Amino acid sequence: MGQNKISYTTCPYNCWPINCGQQVIRYDDGRIEITGNRHHDFSKGRLCVKGQCSHEIAANKDRHLTPLRRDGRQGGFKETTWDEALDEIAEKISANIKKGEREATALYHSHGNIVQRINWKVLTPRFANLVGITLWDGNFPCWYDVGVAQQLTGYWGLHDPAQTCEKTAALINWAQDPCASQANMTPYILKVRENKGLVITIDPRVTQTAAISDIHLRPKLGTDVWLANAAAHILIKEGAYDQEFVNKYSHGFNEYKNHIEAFAPAEAAKVCEISLKEIEELAAIFVKNKPVSTNLTRGALGKHLNGIQMVRAILCLIGLSGNVGVEGGGAIWGETIEFNLDLCGKDKRPAADYPVNNFAAIDKALEEGKINTLLVVGGNPLSQWPNLPRLRRQLRQLDMVVVYDLFMNHTAREAADFILPATCWLEELGLRTSNRRIYIMEKILEPPGQCREASMWMNDLAKRLGVNDYFYWDNKEECLDDCLRSKACRRATIKELMKHPEGIEADLPEAPYSDYVFDSPSKKFEFYSTSAKEMGLPALPTYEAPLESITDTPGLAEKYPLQLISSRRNTHFHSFHDSHQVIQTLRSLEPEPILYIHPQDAAARGLDDGDYAIMFNERGKGRIKVEITTEVPPRHVSLNDCWPQLNEVTSSYTPCPPNVTAKLGMGGQPAYQNVLVEIKGEQK
Ligand code: SF4
Repeated sequence: MGQNKISYTTCPYNCWPINCGQQVIRYDDGRIEITGNRHHDFSKGRLCVKGQCSHEIAANKDRHLTPLRRDGRQGGFKETTWDEALDEIAEKISANIKKGEREATALYHSHGNIVQRINWKVLTPRFANLVGITLWDGNFPCWYDVGVAQQLTGYWGLHDPAQTCEKTAALINWAQDPCASQANMTPYILKVRENKGLVITIDPRVTQTAAISDIHLRPKLGTDVWLANAAAHILIKEGAYDQEFVNKYSHGFNEYKNHIEAFAPAEAAKVCEISLKEIEELAAIFVKNKPVSTNLTRGALGKHLNGIQMVRAILCLIGLSGNVGVEGGGAIWGETIEFNLDLCGKDKRPAADYPVNNFAAIDKALEEGKINTLLVVGGNPLSQWPNLPRLRRQLRQLDMVVVYDLFMNHTAREAADFILPATCWLEELGLRTSNRRIYIMEKILEPPGQCREASMWMNDLAKRLGVNDYFYWDNKEECLDDCLRSKACRRATIKELMKHPEGIEADLPEAPYSDYVFDSPSKKFEFYSTSAKEMGLPALPTYEAPLESITDTPGLAEKYPLQLISSRRNTHFHSFHDSHQVIQTLRSLEPEPILYIHPQDAAARGLDDGDYAIMFNERGKGRIKVEITTEVPPRHVSLNDCWPQLNEVTSSYTPCPPNVTAKLGMGGQPAYQNVLVEIKGEQK
């Protein structure tokens, strides 16, 4: 009898700012057991329910094991071979190139591919650059407008969540519910309270994080610019701001100060629909507690019409209050560890009119027929992207859609011509960066059936297109070692990472910007951004009323009187694994889309708990089950973002224009959170 083998990897879900460690035991009889990796610097052996039931992924009976091709446009699928599929895909891409329309082939890669950091950062961009096709990635629906705000302020730093929670006097979870979306943050949040620090949540909903917070502010959805600017107004009026930081290290304070005059707290209380006392309480948190840390991670705020300005307003408040460059202060983001990005082959990219990774540009390109071939790698546009009725029509107009994934998903089912079978995280050698560390993801299993790593089939496809140096390494380990040749990665090697299940610390400063040199044109912290103005954005954090809102668009609200909030819970990760329906444990916890509605709104529509209803607006409709709760405010409803029903009704409107993305490489989130709907119960 041989020995059971212990290996280390990280959880296959792509949580930010944490990615928990896993220990995998492979028994002699082939069974595997997955538990938390207790050596892991952050998760210390803990796994949330998704991580705990991840053993249901690899040997799942619903996995794609062979390439499939559609059997007639409306029909089912039949098996094909990799060679046949790749020949046909190559023929299509090649025809586009010959016509001088390289950009007509687009590759969209998302969380399923991003889990393996090298695929996301190096190998997939390298494929798109060397072959010369359009590249879009899953960051634009997720956090790209937040990235624009960071760049405009020049404040792009990562504060490690664990260290920060240990050292902070007050933690503000601003539009974040980490206890639900990144459950292993919970012990760190509790640590703040154990250390006699304050925990504050700012969210219109009653969330799991709000439930363990000392203070919960519930401003009206989308009014965060008013809230942050009003708190800044108080700090400036009272002279209770960090004058040394402002005088020495900031740019445009006088313009900011004048601008902030207009955000009087009493007026803010009306706009935000909270009390004046609560706004004063928020300002007082910054005065009485040193340091204050703000957990913004990435997602939620960017999904508003005002997303860039909301984040800028909060960053300005962080700077003003003297929390930049301070351990235990600042903003908590995801990660900033860069690989050897020279390998991306950006300089070899053939010239073409590629639509940028911004939903306004993507929507325009699809609408105008500029794209005819779409390769989807680890993504699911027919759940992730907004305004699905419009997108569905656009996808029908394409000549070819290819989906590479583990399981069937909405896009594959409805639109794919080819489905290519993917490897899961246990079946390829890889690595993960998270917080301040780099972790090994060991190859533990051989891929089943004909499942192949993305870089392997991309290599075969590249060769068919005359690119012979895409994957030029002798093996994956050599490739990864090459990718790790960067300052931040300390030129670590896979062999070293194998010896360190606790991860290797990256070369990053303890407290970002402790030298007070910022990543902005002025090298200062920019309250006022000239580059924003040059790109057509407001130079100062400015409020703009949402396009669809119960108070700002009363005409529309008469027809559709409920504001829809997209949310996350612990039982799903976006639309992974066919909206988690192929993972038995998760399916049992969330088997269908639930719409959370306040009792008074349910009563007004004659809805009882558990009723089925149609949620609709002018764009589309979706069938949902109703759950009545006071967790959502009156006149609001909330739906988890794993269900396509959500995006049946969202708008394609993208506040950040493509010229910003072309310049900054970021921006372009649709305004997912600015949606009005109505609900009608089904006949009982
Ligand atoms: S919080 Fe859960 S899903 Fe996210 S990385 Fe950790 S174990 Fe995985």
